[in-house]
Amino acid sequence: MITPRPDLALLTGYHSAQVSVAVRLNTNEAPESPPRGFADALAAEMATLEWHRYPDRSYTALRTAIAAYHGVDPAQVFAANGSNEVLQTLCLAYGGPGRSVAVFEPTYALHSHIARITSTEVAIGERTTEFALDLGEVARVTREAQPAITFLCSPNNPTGMVEDEATVRAVLREVPGVLVVDEAYGQFAPWSALALVEEDVPLVVTRTYSKTWSMAAARLGYLIGPRSLVRQLDQVALPYHLDAVKQVAGRLALDYRDAMEARTATLVAERAAMVERLTDLPVTVWPSAANFVLFRPEARPGDAVWQSLLDQSVLVRNCSSWPRLDGCLRVTIGTPVENDAFIAALEVALR
Ligand code: PMP
Repeated sequence: MITPRPDLALLTGYHSAQVSVAVRLNTNEAPESPPRGFADALAAEMATLEWHRYPDRSYTALRTAIAAYHGVDPAQVFAANGSNEVLQTLCLAYGGPGRSVAVFEPTYALHSHIARITSTEVAIGERTTEFALDLGEVARVTREAQPAITFLCSPNNPTGMVEDEATVRAVLREVPGVLVVDEAYGQFAPWSALALVEEDVPLVVTRTYSKTWSMAAARLGYLIGPRSLVRQLDQVALPYHLDAVKQVAGRLALDYRDAMEARTATLVAERAAMVERLTDLPVTVWPSAANFVLFRPEARPGDAVWQSLLDQSVLVRNCSSWPRLDGCLRVTIGTPVENDAFIAALEVALR
């Protein structure tokens, strides 16, 4: 039997339970599908699709629409199948054997996972016990590893914490390679590093359709960055990597900006309500700028609370055995009904 590359042997993959439950709050998806008009517009365009032709390799219409949405030049946009694939393309272009990335834990597990899949070394820095970025630690890791890519995640998954502008600027001054600010949850946060993107600055900001745009099923994400960098990523991406359906869906979704912004505002308000209700319970809760909240039950093990929630058909993310997150659980903000169901189930689980 053929064996995989030896450096893959230690990787365990990335798992998030996909079980059938009444209340699914474990993967930070939007709680509902895009507006009805989106599905109708997509169906209408599908009727005219040239299925026998390869799609537009440069996804010009989608790229132009994303660029217009952000007020940038289309040549500053690189899109792929989920922001995970954007991150992978970055690692393929700038990582690889003999190169490294820097991450600051705890953070999104896929940053180091994708780096390792692409044979890129991972230099791990620690955050403070309160999950804040420590600029001294950033300097240490950067000096020792000279990373080709440094990943920040803002708001950070799974803590929900946002890096402020001064911090991002300070990290940008420190790093020798490209700084990736993963803003998968950027629309829920008070500010965006998009404001710092410039042609001569080695900074890219990644975004996804999976959260605010209610399109996790479509697998579409993108980055905004310097044109020169986008050109290099274009060279690494496979030919026709974005299928025609996705190109149309991604473009049409942006027509529903107002509806999506209203939904984001609702989720932000629900998040505040959720944090307040958690504060009344025997749990430690961290402030969040994303569409999820991290908390730690104080009187019972996180694992037992997670199982009790599942027994009540409520699924949240079990981070309790993850390094640095001992006993923690992460709940996605859902509809008001789902959030009520979660809190009711949690009250039972904490008894
Ligand atoms: N970045 C972060 C921080 C995430 O939490 C996620 C989704 N869990 C992603 C990127 C990937 O999103 P997608 O591939 O669906 O765009």
